Amino acid sequence: MAAEFAEVVVDAPYSRLDRTFHYAIPSALADQLRLGARVWVPFGHRHVEGFVVNLVDRSPVPEPKEICQLLDPEPLFDPVMLELARWIASYYLCPLIKVLKCFLPAGLKVTGQDVIGLGIETEEELASWIDYWETIDPPVAKLLAWLWENGETPVGKLGRILPAGRKDELLADLVERRLITRQTNVVRRRRAAEIVWPCRLGESVQGALMKPRLTVEQERALLRIATALDRGGYRVINLHGVTGSGKTEIYLRAIEQVLLTGRQAIVLVPEISLTPQIVAQFRQRFGSQVAVLHSRLSTAERYQEWLKIRTGQVSIAVGARSAIFAPFNRLGLIIIDEEHENSYKQEDDPKYHAREVARKRAELENVVLLLGSATPSLESYRSSLTGSYELITLNQRVESRPLPQVIVVDLREEIKAGNRSIFSRMLQEKLHERLTRGEQTILFLNRRGFATFVSCRHCGLVLCCPRCGIALTYHATASQLRCHYCNYGRTIPSRCPACHSDYIRHFGVGTERVEAEVVRLFPQARVIRVDVDTTARRGAYEEYYQAFRRGEVDVLVGTQMVAKGLDFPNVTLVGVVSADPTLNLPDFRAGERTFQLLTQVAGRAGRGERPGEVIIQTYRPDHYSIVTAQQHDYATFYAEEIKHREKWGYPPFLHLVRVVMSGFQETAVRQGAEMLGRYLAKYLPEGGNCEILGPAPAFLERIKNRWRWQIVLKGQTVAMLREIIQLATSDFEQNHQHKGLRLNIDVDPLGML
Ligand code: ADP
Ligand code: ZN
Ligand code: ZN
Repeated sequence: MAAEFAEVVVDAPYSRLDRTFHYAIPSALADQLRLGARVWVPFGHRHVEGFVVNLVDRSPVPEPKEICQLLDPEPLFDPVMLELARWIASYYLCPLIKVLKCFLPAGLKVTGQDVIGLGIETEEELASWIDYWETIDPPVAKLLAWLWENGETPVGKLGRILPAGRKDELLADLVERRLITRQTNVVRRRRAAEIVWPCRLGESVQGALMKPRLTVEQERALLRIATALDRGGYRVINLHGVTGSGKTEIYLRAIEQVLLTGRQAIVLVPEISLTPQIVAQFRQRFGSQVAVLHSRLSTAERYQEWLKIRTGQVSIAVGARSAIFAPFNRLGLIIIDEEHENSYKQEDDPKYHAREVARKRAELENVVLLLGSATPSLESYRSSLTGSYELITLNQRVESRPLPQVIVVDLREEIKAGNRSIFSRMLQEKLHERLTRGEQTILFLNRRGFATFVSCRHCGLVLCCPRCGIALTYHATASQLRCHYCNYGRTIPSRCPACHSDYIRHFGVGTERVEAEVVRLFPQARVIRVDVDTTARRGAYEEYYQAFRRGEVDVLVGTQMVAKGLDFPNVTLVGVVSADPTLNLPDFRAGERTFQLLTQVAGRAGRGERPGEVIIQTYRPDHYSIVTAQQHDYATFYAEEIKHREKWGYPPFLHLVRVVMSGFQETAVRQGAEMLGRYLAKYLPEGGNCEILGPAPAFLERIKNRWRWQIVLKGQTVAMLREIIQLATSDFEQNHQHKGLRLNIDVDPLGML
């Protein structure tokens, strides 16, 4: 017998509580309603969208309301996806409805609209009512006649017939007399016309079907992946291959095999490297079997791509992080390219990390997850060393191309030699060389570092927190240095504690300065700058990209945007104007990020026939992140970095949860954070390897007028930390209501700015 009741998660913004509601299933829907279906249900005084998460024979509440409508012919979620959503909701402490909505494209959205209909059936009846109202209240007579003529009409369109001030009152009265009906109907967005992906890269389609012969390393890697696919079952494989080792080709071959068995594949790439290049590679090999999901799609396009996946018209979904939710029902493989990338973490609720979600999905679907990177995250690499992941290594570039030569320039020497330009003598010389030879250069500067760390220009020393091991942050207002994890503070020394020079100051160079400097030194050079400011306009990135590709530009200046995914044969010089903003970020991952960025940036050079050169400028040439990046030596980098993580108690040894409290009044925020800190301390288990850092002002102390304070929890398991937070926040909410304070919780945070 079919279930009589449905447990529904409703989409109502004010039902902030993460709970479900029970509804009766009307007999008309009894046969069609399935788990995961989207429904239209009464909620309070209106109707909302909801999702069926359970079918039951009994309702805990007497006489629940009925479901009004089933919104789609098929359920939107299968049981695996529902379970995945539940896991995300619980792991990342996020209401289930938000997670479910995040699985769906915006184009599926429905809204309600109040529609008025006529409650009168015969023409005689109508005539007599019209006569009656003509004398008592003429607008009503007009309304009845209108409805007879036009049929059901949205309330909003009755403005010309009914006097605005009395509209609601009149309608309510007429509904009561049963002369009219009023109900909320579902309104769908208009279906978008079939959209054909604009294949602007037509030229590269030629020769598409020529697959390269695999290198020995590729062959070996593929064999191991193929074995895992054949064997079936859940498995995570780390594909650690140097830049240019041909990982993409391995992905393509693995997918071919998946398709042969009638299964489907998801490929995640970082948004930033979702360049036409990578998309073209997949289209060349698989043609119309590929759906592409990226943030530049319009709502309608996104919905179209989603539909193609849902209806099985395509077998491969290539996209940025949210493509992990692609609704395939015969999934066979998930690939994450550049798995270490930060953009896999969503910054808004649910603050999921696509790699973790992928792992869970692979586990639930019993499939292979392939993680590719030249610089694996410490988390993934450690898992492959401890044996829970498989590890495949590619040490060679294809066609025996050499890895680029990396030169580290010690900026301390430039100062001593009296060079005050932001370009070292070496960089100026090499740049000049490229310009005369007609070759291209990329100049790179990570601007996210702001001007916040204080370092010695003479010896390179950076002031760090003695408790947390991260760079101290300079606060101009208080003229103080502070640790934004634990709130340790100190004044700025007038002399360097290490070498006693008075060359100690904070850093401040942006990409604009770099561009200006190129123009100043080489007025004849054709320069473009690619960063968030210059590429805000839709299509701007593609324009710059194409111009650079066509050789109309000599020098490309950019932020991390240019670090990845680009493959230009004519680029023979890459200059990192300063590695220090990344290295000195107040973040325990600063060393890892520096290694990743330098490796990626360096990987841009020498992809063609001519070998490439890379110049890294820094005040800390001896730092292991820089030395190992220079030598393309991940293993040594890992060995150094993991020691620090263990010593200071950071991931992958401990988990972190970050709680940010924000509000418009500084004191209220600080006091609130202190109080929450006390509640948290109360629930901290003894000996559980748990620790509370802070409260401390967040690195970005104020965003959009809201002051921000943060507390960081460290602990062995996320489950334990979550429980402490749930108990403490519930205490906090009971005893410290409102005052406009907002809490933002981030499980396994990536950045802590
Ligand atoms: P990675 O992602 O490992 O940095 P790519 O997948 O971008 O490397 O490959 C680098 C270049 O080598 C690409 O231009 C690719 O087309 C080419 N390539 C890959 N495999 C082969 C092969 N077996 N023979 C020749 N060229 C190849
Ligand atoms: Zn010094
Ligand atoms: Zn500290």
